[in-house]
Formats: sequence, C-alpha cells, structure tokens
Amino acid sequence: MSIPEDGVTVASGRIAVMRTRMLLLGLVFGLTAASARTQEIDWDAVTEEAVSTLREYIRFDTTVPPGDVRGSADFLQEILEREGLPVTRFEPGPGKVNLFARIESATAEPAHKPILLLHHMDVVPADASRWGDVDPFGGELSDGYIWGRGAMDMKGTGTMHLMAFLTLKRQNVALDRDVILMAVADEEIAGPLGARYMVDNHYDALDPEYVLDEGGFGSREMYAEDKLVFSISVAEKQVVWLKIRAEGVSGHGSQPNADNPNDRLVRALGRLLDAPFPSSPSPVVRALRETLGTLAENKFTNAIQNTTLSLTSLQSGVGSPPKINVIPSVAEATIDCRLIPGTDASEFIEEVKAGLGDDGLTVEVALVGEESVVTPHDTPLYRALASAIVRHNPEATVVASLIPYGTDSNVFRHRGALSYGLLPMVLTASIVSSMHSDAERIPVSEVEKAIRIFYEALIQVAGT
Ligand SMILES: [Zn+2]
Repeated sequence: MSIPEDGVTVASGRIAVMRTRMLLLGLVFGLTAASARTQEIDWDAVTEEAVSTLREYIRFDTTVPPGDVRGSADFLQEILEREGLPVTRFEPGPGKVNLFARIESATAEPAHKPILLLHHMDVVPADASRWGDVDPFGGELSDGYIWGRGAMDMKGTGTMHLMAFLTLKRQNVALDRDVILMAVADEEIAGPLGARYMVDNHYDALDPEYVLDEGGFGSREMYAEDKLVFSISVAEKQVVWLKIRAEGVSGHGSQPNADNPNDRLVRALGRLLDAPFPSSPSPVVRALRETLGTLAENKFTNAIQNTTLSLTSLQSGVGSPPKINVIPSVAEATIDCRLIPGTDASEFIEEVKAGLGDDGLTVEVALVGEESVVTPHDTPLYRALASAIVRHNPEATVVASLIPYGTDSNVFRHRGALSYGLLPMVLTASIVSSMHSDAERIPVSEVEKAIRIFYEALIQVAGT
C-alpha cells in the first residue's frame, strides 16, 4: 500500500488490464466537466484494488443456507469506515446482516432522491468436487480470471459498485443527490431478512429514485450471433409454481387398467408441453426484437422472450424404491412457470388447466410470485449507463431486457424505485452459465471498464 499526495490510501503496483486510455482520450471532450476529473484517477490502481478486494470478498463463505454474512459484512464495513463513510447496520436474524453507507449530496436540499447501489452478500452452494483444481472460496486469480462462488453473482458486481462509490468519495465529487451503497443478506432465498426486510422496515432511510442491481451484462453470443450486445435489465418474470395431481385405481402391474394415474398424468403433461403457450410478448421483448432483429437461439433468449414451463418433478409409485409391479393410486408433477410481464397469472393458470385437457386432474397453485413491474428505460440513469457502455465498447448495442430469474429489484420496483440490473462486462456464454454452476469467474480484463462505466454514469446523474 502507498499513500499518494492526496492522502488517499490505494494499492500500488500494476497489473495487466485492457487499456482503453487511447480511445477515451479522443472521447473525453464530449464528457461533462465533472467526468473530466476521471483523468486524474489512477485507474490501474483502482483496478488492482478492485481485484484484490473481490478476491478477499469471495473468501468469506456466505453460502445460503445458512447464509451467515457477518464476516463479509464486517469486511465491507471496515473498508467503508476506513474511507470516512459511516455505516448503518441491521442484524434482523442470526447471521443476517444488511448494511449501507451514504455519500451525501453537496447541497442542503438534494435536487433528487438517491441512487442506491444494491448487491447481495449471500451465495448459492458450490460443489467443490466439480470445480477441478479451483477452490470455490479461494478467491483465486489465474488465466486472467478471478474465480469463485459469487465472482459474478454477486460479489463481483458489488465490488465494482464499491470501487465506483469509493472513487466518488475520494475524488470529493460534488453531488446533487445522495448515493447509497447497500449490501444485503438472503437474496438467494428471496430476501425475507435481506432486501425485503429493508424495504418493509427501513424504506424511509433509503427512498431511492434509482436502484442499480444485478441482471444485464455484455455478450457477443448470448443475445445475437457475433454482435456485441449489452443488456440492462428492466424487469423480471413472474413466478408461478403448480402441482398437478392425478388420482386413479391401483392394482397389479400385470393387468393394466384405464384409471392408472401415471398414464393420465403423463398424457396430460404431454399435451401441455407439446403446445407451448402463445404468450403475447411484452413491449420490452418487442423492442428487444426490433433493435436486434433475430435473436440467437438458446435457452436464455427463449426464456427472456416467452412465458415458459419447466416440468421439474414427477412423483409416483408405491414403496421406496417403487415397486415395479404395482400400479399406484396417485401420481404428481410440479411445474415451474415463469410469466412474461403483462401476463395475467390467473388467466395463465386457466390456460394450463385447459392445456392439460383432463378435468379429472387437480391443479394446485403452490406459489404465485409478485407481479413483475417494468422499469421504464427512458430515464437519465438508463441513458447515462448506455452512453458509458458505448464509450468503453464503441461497437456495442445497448438494449433494455428482461431477466428470466428473480432478484431483489422487484421489491424496490413495487415501491416505485426505477431499478436497473447490470454487470457492465463482456462475458462469454460459458462464463454466463457458470453463475450458480461450476467454475464461476469474471475476466480481469473487464474490471476497469466496469468500474468506469458505473462511475461515469453516477457522475452524470448525481454530479452537480
Ligand atoms: Zn444474485
């Protein structure tokens, strides 16, 4: 560590990162006076600090369950307090911590409500035996990647937020609104003691106009073939979980009967799955198609364009293991459905029943998630993010998109906050699919750009 003239402690030394300086030099004239300050920032040092911070952050095993995030919360708190940023901390349950720090507006009466940089500290479990030589909680740096559970989801994004936030503070940037950095628990279990707890109990302390969260990313293959596309997520899909139950007549396997519940269930599921839902695409999907033309064909683009059903379990048989020569009296299936915004959940459930084509089956609704709220993308923060992305990736097309899974954003959207999901890095399909899987990692070469995109967007929207 060294202490440069301005008294700010930063890591010294250099690492190999993709350089965009030449490119930016030509573009700097187009930036605002506030962002011109970026020339004074030693981005190599910021990048190196980000890499070492993320590596250390990954080493806290915050797997949920149990989702004990105290160690990682202490780690973040120490960093923030060292920079003179007071931390407000809540411990709503054993091991569960949510904390935030705020850089205040320079004006006594802020011109606008805050921007909230939101990330979660908890991670999903990692099966170390499937990671080869890599320790999922080692924070290893090799082959140009930072490896580990949470590298992408979501300690990586959180670290990029943190570095943009610390840079704002260190540069003493005058703001016309507060910028808040918040880290929460429990996102991977839908946030009862994390974001949801904060929204239900401490919303007044946050009250953001904007939330920056996870969701979108850049890719040359995921959205369209050979085309660099950055998505900024503006909505999620609504979850509907269904249990389908067939009852019939049990008997000896040697004498098939017409009321075998397995037969009924399998035939009904076959009818349902063979006739995919003609879901009417939401305006977000229509705009996505208009901008990109034909989308690449993969499970991700299918999921962001359509209401989907996944048959996730089939349960039947008598005895354990089930006896092969016994026809059971009951068979059950579960279906995980994800609805495109604008789809009416109860109408959808009726369509599923009709699709099964068997009134004798019981369809039980196990869960109807909160309705999706779509954040409009005609806003200053969206535009600022999009233009910062293009400054650093001149060939990129930026699109507003859906994400097929849930995040903490939706609870904020229900309170009226404008929430965008973005990790502004170019990722390969195999990196994207490492999320929640094995070998999760992010490329070091994208770290500097990601921090700068966040920083420049914050300056543009929150700078005086
Ligand atoms: Zn996440």
